[in-house]
Amino acid sequence: MRPTIDDYLMKIAEMAAARSTCTRRAMVGAVIASPEGRILSVGYNGVPYGIPHCDDIGCRRGDDGKHLWLVHAEENAIVGAAAEGIKIKGAWLYCTHLPCSHCASLAVQAGITKVFYKKVIGGPVGPTQYVFSKAHIELIWLGGNDGQESSTESYQDLVDARSS
Ligand SMILES: [Zn+2]
Ligand SMILES: [Zn+2]
Repeated sequence: MRPTIDDYLMKIAEMAAARSTCTRRAMVGAVIASPEGRILSVGYNGVPYGIPHCDDIGCRRGDDGKHLWLVHAEENAIVGAAAEGIKIKGAWLYCTHLPCSHCASLAVQAGITKVFYKKVIGGPVGPTQYVFSKAHIELIWLGGNDGQESSTESYQDLVDARSS
């Protein structure tokens, strides 16, 4: 069956995620596309160019337990577009996982107007929801109908579960 354009772009985000070199946490991928479905930029999570990969030397973490110098998939897609001079204002963002609130904020500043995601990693979802709703960015869950693993919940279910 011919996939919808949204499913096709999400599949590419999942392909990108497979390139992630940080295997400790989720392997995450992101695609930025025009509303017509033209791919503008792709990213996955990993360390910056020139820095040894997590799967070679282990994840380097600061005293707060947070990963040092890891670039998130969404950041890589946004920064990659900036580096190449590709306009992404008005574009749509396809993420294998619901973005963190930092990446959500970057998406707002980059002029992204719609965000699709499939899974939710642990961590607070409220700040991401807050950023997207205040910025009037439409958030669409693309999981659900193709044999999802149990980690996939609808975003609203998750928000409801955590706020109750
Ligand atoms: Zn790592
Ligand atoms: Zn992020």
